[in-house]
Amino acid sequence: MTSRKRKELDPAILTRMERLESTIIDYTEARSAIRTGFDDQEKIQDRRAQIMKRFRASQADWDDYHWQLKHRLTTVDALMKIIPLSTEDRLAVNRVAGQFRFAISPYYASLIDPANIDCPIRLQSVPSESELLPDGDLDPMDEAGSSPVPGVTRRYPDRLIIKVTNQCGMYCRFCQRRRLIGETDHHVAQSVLTGALAYIRQHQEIRDVLLTGGDALMLSDEQLDRLLCELRQIEHVEIIRIGSRTPVTLPQRITPDLVQILKKYQPLYVNTHFNSPAEITPESKQACERLADAGIPLGNQMVLLNGVNNRPMVVRKLNHELLKMRVKPYYIFHAKQVRGTSRFWVRLEEGLEIMESLRGYTSGMAIPTYIVNGTGGLGKTPLLPNYLLYIGREKAVFRNWEGQIFEIENKVRPNHRSAR
Ligand SMILES: *Cc1c(COP(=O)(O)O)cnc(C)c1O
Repeated sequence: MTSRKRKELDPAILTRMERLESTIIDYTEARSAIRTGFDDQEKIQDRRAQIMKRFRASQADWDDYHWQLKHRLTTVDALMKIIPLSTEDRLAVNRVAGQFRFAISPYYASLIDPANIDCPIRLQSVPSESELLPDGDLDPMDEAGSSPVPGVTRRYPDRLIIKVTNQCGMYCRFCQRRRLIGETDHHVAQSVLTGALAYIRQHQEIRDVLLTGGDALMLSDEQLDRLLCELRQIEHVEIIRIGSRTPVTLPQRITPDLVQILKKYQPLYVNTHFNSPAEITPESKQACERLADAGIPLGNQMVLLNGVNNRPMVVRKLNHELLKMRVKPYYIFHAKQVRGTSRFWVRLEEGLEIMESLRGYTSGMAIPTYIVNGTGGLGKTPLLPNYLLYIGREKAVFRNWEGQIFEIENKVRPNHRSAR
């Protein structure tokens, strides 16, 4: 277009473009204040050096997930050396740990900002006094009641989950399965896996199997290889999914060897669990990219958490950062009313406001589905701001993302036969 022509641009188009630009100014301003782990690399590197010194660890140790797992912080004394804890904090951590244990990988601990009491990494990983409050249920989803054989939860016709371990790189303070985390790490017994596989073999309608836990990638390479191999031999299992927070809390787990194993069993999907832009680091990015490079599609299942991510701009930024690492935002879960997690609960209106702030303002690629889990095991239920204002025999009326109203006809012509 010549400059002469540009000058003649229809004023209505100009006004429209200006209006569009005005709807993103708030995000452009907020975005730079929301820090990722990339923005804070210098501080993180300093803290990492301190932690490594304390453990007399080499870089090779740090990069080895076995080392990370073995050196998870699991006691108040260990924790105190890494982050400041008041006397009250210390008592609280001890009291809570007796009921719901904690364990934080040195890597994830290095992301905690000691200067910020509301650090989203700290909130997710360090026990708080509030976990002793009596609100909520230990098993609000009645997983125990949806289990046809040990280790399996089946709530839907064509897919199910196998819980393969109770171990994680870090025990989230809002965990929905905290009742299963127990006192010690253990993978499920081989007999349980054998039973689960037999159940799937007997049920032709199961076309999608999810391995979860705990964290499914806590199994050793050999154990995973064996289990995936057996699953792949079941013809009606079309896709396999792995649920793992290791790209976030223990990215060292995503080794080239592991990726080679997973690659053999495609179509295989990995769903991970980033909750905060602060979790986006060079290490987590490399972990996601290794999986994506191997042709493994990645999804993200965020949990909406008070103090961590219950702000529209934080979620938008997180989702943009995820897409840059080839992770597709898949779900936002409304936090379940699990015992001892009430400090994380938010109102449904906050989730709806977040959904409203995404549609139209950013690409559909960055928009996950907001899900409320039906209590008692009634399943995932989507929740959406209301865009349909009226639906009748003749027409339907909508509002668009900006609040403009439009209508479409809602009838078929009588001279067309219904194709059903
Ligand atoms: C979440 C879940 C699934 C998977 O649901 P999708 O919507 O397919 O991702 C399957 N089984 C159980 C028991 C679940 O809780």
